[in-house]
Amino acid sequence: MTHNFSAGPAMLPAPVLKKAQKELLDWQGRGVSVMEISHRSPAYIAMAEQAEQDLRDLMSIPDNYAVLFMHGGGRSQFSAVPQNIAGADATVDYLDTGNWSQIAEKEAAKYVARVNRVASVTDSEQGKMIPPQASWNLTPGAAYLHYCPNETVDGIALHEIPEVSAPLVADMSSVILAESLDVSKFGVIYAGAQKNIGPSGFAVVIVRRDLLATQQNSVCTVMNYQVQDTEKSMYNTPNTFAWYLAGEVFKWIKAEGGVQVMQARNHAKAKLLYECIDNNPFYKNQIHPQNRSIMNVPFQLLKPELDNEFLKQAEQRGLMALKGHRFVGGMRASMYNAMPLEGTRALVDFMTEFARTHK
Ligand code: PMP
Repeated sequence: MTHNFSAGPAMLPAPVLKKAQKELLDWQGRGVSVMEISHRSPAYIAMAEQAEQDLRDLMSIPDNYAVLFMHGGGRSQFSAVPQNIAGADATVDYLDTGNWSQIAEKEAAKYVARVNRVASVTDSEQGKMIPPQASWNLTPGAAYLHYCPNETVDGIALHEIPEVSAPLVADMSSVILAESLDVSKFGVIYAGAQKNIGPSGFAVVIVRRDLLATQQNSVCTVMNYQVQDTEKSMYNTPNTFAWYLAGEVFKWIKAEGGVQVMQARNHAKAKLLYECIDNNPFYKNQIHPQNRSIMNVPFQLLKPELDNEFLKQAEQRGLMALKGHRFVGGMRASMYNAMPLEGTRALVDFMTEFARTHK
């Protein structure tokens, strides 16, 4: 049995993959797959609309928000956001919580007059932490505040939604659908699909419609939120298979009981792993407990010279993709919605045994 801890592209729910496998040669009795029919056909449109409706139901997305199925994964939104919801003369605020916020900030600087970094992660006795909002250097009249609630590489999370007057933009690539969320607090939520939604190269954008009037003239039409909203995300040919698979993942989450059930499972998995790390001096996690991610858990071995041996033995046990990101080193276990509790248990059992035998 393989347990796949990849940060992304990540594991997908087995029932979804089995259904897709079955339907690959015959979708809805048509004798062809969903990839081989027109995106303008009534059958495809019905599937696409159902996927949107299921996502709206799962996240309780208010009617004044557009739901867009876009191209180009998470990073395409780093440039789409400023071009769509800030004028070229605007100032935009960015919270720096790690790798992905920094890349998003750099990209935004190409399209607006000024990018202001409101705060960065700091060190504390209990590990790296995100400074409290009261200390942020917010710009009055900023076009928006961008932040990444879950930093996939660093394993740092902001669990409270910032309270700011500017529209809030959130890169939820690695945390969407993992916990319940009040969408009405946000101007834009976007997510690359390859963690909790489906295949890579695909993205979901949830945007409050009153923000759609400000797009810059130069924004590439495929990336234009207003055009894609009017065209129901079919201005050009969408990634039809990714949309279908995302729809199947949404159905799976619904059948499992919805986002609250995912949240309870995700918290249980994270608790199990952090307890293992905290209770065993052989391991450490360097993030302040209040900013620990429930999705991506980086950890270090007390003896880094054993890293390769740890990874080798883990693989032999079917525990794959535990190598930490090259910027952080050590290990990282990513446990998105599709990771069952048994997967985390198997990891914790292995970690306990490895620590015991390599003291
Ligand atoms: N944002 C976050 C939080 C991510 O984790 C990632 C990818 N791991 C990205 C953006 C970039 O996504 P993509 O590779 O789809 O462009």
